Amino acid sequence: MAELFFRFAPSPNGRLHLGHAYSALFTAQQAKIHSATFLLRIEDIDQARCKPVFAEQAEADLRWLGLDWPQPVRYQSRHMHEYTVIIDRLERLGLLYPCFCTRAKLSTAPGAKDPDGTTVYPGYCRLMTRMDRNRRMTAGEPYALRLDMAKAILAAGPDLSFHETGCGPDGETGVVACAPQAWGDVVLARKDIATSYHIAVVHDDAIQGITHITRGIDLFHATSIHRVLQSILELPVPVYMHHRLIPDDTGRKLSKSHGDRSLAALREEGVTPDMIREQLGF
Ligand code: GLU
Repeated sequence: MAELFFRFAPSPNGRLHLGHAYSALFTAQQAKIHSATFLLRIEDIDQARCKPVFAEQAEADLRWLGLDWPQPVRYQSRHMHEYTVIIDRLERLGLLYPCFCTRAKLSTAPGAKDPDGTTVYPGYCRLMTRMDRNRRMTAGEPYALRLDMAKAILAAGPDLSFHETGCGPDGETGVVACAPQAWGDVVLARKDIATSYHIAVVHDDAIQGITHITRGIDLFHATSIHRVLQSILELPVPVYMHHRLIPDDTGRKLSKSHGDRSLAALREEGVTPDMIREQLGF
């Protein structure tokens, strides 16, 4: 039987908190149920926000929780050139275009919201002439590369779906039809980060042979974008299992940016890994 691989893939932009502990323990539990290998991946493409010290601390926190994984750990920041090759490939397929819109311009743009609540890009730069594009690029104007979603959906082929063994925000489970159009022309690379979560995650899941993806339900809708990219790039399709998020005392999703209590702070207060497992239902 083929070997199965699960992964926990935190972004080290702060200390890990209970939400991470839940996701990591959930993934390890599922890996065990399936007699699979649990892998750790460090998603640190955003080198302005992700610090090596947070990655080191994340590994230590996970070990403290009792988790273990094979070496070497894949750090995305060490593979940026691989993502560039994919961006070039999508560009050659005519699926990307440069977008010169500033944050200020986008903040006032009208239109529908994407599943994350951000306004869908109205396509201002999509119809720019090649001459205008070249002129602005040659002049050194900063730009992002956007996926032309309508073209990408055509290139990906009809009836895209994924297999959900957990459940989505509206109870979606089993074979779920993708709805990538809801995202519009997403950014796949920008001036400061030459790739994006979407590119790095589909590439890494393929290269690491990930057969099962367990992650928070907040990423459920992004799976539609990932399926489009997997299809165009001819990558294998993992099974998906989205899990609940751990709210804080006020019902908000825990996040590093809100300064929620970290695993390190809990440990210092005398909380043990067993207490954390019990609190999270493991
Ligand atoms: N790096 C992402 C995060 O920390 C997880 C990505 C994924 O599991 O696909 O939220």
